[in-house]
Amino acid sequence: MAANERKERGIRRVDLAYAEVASSELARDVNRDVILEIVRSRQPVSRADLSRLSGLQPSTVSAIAEELLRDKWIAEGGTATRPRGRRPMMLSLNPELVMLVADVRPMQAILAVVDLNGRFLAREVLPLATGAEKALQAMVDRMQEMRARQSSHTFVGVGISLPGRVDPATQQLVHAPNLKWTGFDIKGFVQKQTGLPVEIDNAANACLLSELWFGRMDGIRDAALVTFAEGVGASILSNGHLIAGRGGLAGEFGHIPIEPEGLPCACGFKGCWETIASTRAALRYFAEAAPDQPKITYTELLHRAAEGQPAAVQAISEQARGIGRGLRFITASLSPEAIVIDGDIVSAWNIAGPIIEKAAQQSVLSGVAPRVIPSTDGELGRLRGAAAVLLQRRSGTNKPED
Ligand SMILES: [Zn+2]
Repeated sequence: MAANERKERGIRRVDLAYAEVASSELARDVNRDVILEIVRSRQPVSRADLSRLSGLQPSTVSAIAEELLRDKWIAEGGTATRPRGRRPMMLSLNPELVMLVADVRPMQAILAVVDLNGRFLAREVLPLATGAEKALQAMVDRMQEMRARQSSHTFVGVGISLPGRVDPATQQLVHAPNLKWTGFDIKGFVQKQTGLPVEIDNAANACLLSELWFGRMDGIRDAALVTFAEGVGASILSNGHLIAGRGGLAGEFGHIPIEPEGLPCACGFKGCWETIASTRAALRYFAEAAPDQPKITYTELLHRAAEGQPAAVQAISEQARGIGRGLRFITASLSPEAIVIDGDIVSAWNIAGPIIEKAAQQSVLSGVAPRVIPSTDGELGRLRGAAAVLLQRRSGTNKPED
């Protein structure tokens, strides 16, 4: 039962090295993930190449490929060009399989239909009503409409990225100071309404998974991703595994106190990293720099900074310094190879990047400083990440739509 227990807890993560030490039952699932991952990154690919790249026996690869073909995760088509001999059939991800994904934020949800390659077929923004059930019902209704419009595709399930922590054991939202949905069974509700399997995870985990599945983090095994929005969330990759911690609460760096006598935080304490590095903090810096100006949104602040308006540039720079002050905790506690910075501030990287990179250089106690990487695809990262959350938990033993 080890394999099932691990999967239900949501901690089984794609990790090629892991296959070497896995028990036989778990190994079958892991090998399946490994093969699927190689198909995804190398497609179209032959069975012989899958065997060579995975190090698995040709017979094992064939058996897994048959299973994946039967379950429609992959499709066969086209032949490789070879000068002579038998031409192998090539395998690719099934382009007909798609997922519904949602990036839930405090005020709105971004909904999308995405295929196994991370390509978007549809995307919509939905303002959120107050109250979990009302908001989720509207979200489900809109998703069903999107599904009806893509009826030629097979829907594998629903992946949801949330601005809070999800307990891996209970699959409940346990900590979300900026979204009052804790205590509501989000996963169960959406599953019941759509009839599809549903996977949920924290937005930072989703972003990090997106970087691992669809981004440029090939080969990196120790990393942290910090996402800067209304709140500050983080995700930790340690030796190739995402770290959940007890109750899924690991990585709450946003609530490490940096200014003991600082401003009150949504969590109830004072001077957390979030209070000096979030988008809210940036808007506060702007109000302080330009007290006579009316209130603006963070998007507007970024526009003004891009145009070179001094108060806006100052506010973004101040936010970047706030971000920099927290990096030391991450470097000291995790010694990551890379720190991925995620959030809309990435679009002002010409202003924020040098400040954050300098802080990362100064954060290291000895040796080489971690590489600072701005996240690849901004808001699409969470949506792709929601897809990755679903993919890696569903592809192991379950058929699409079972
Ligand atoms: Zn806090």
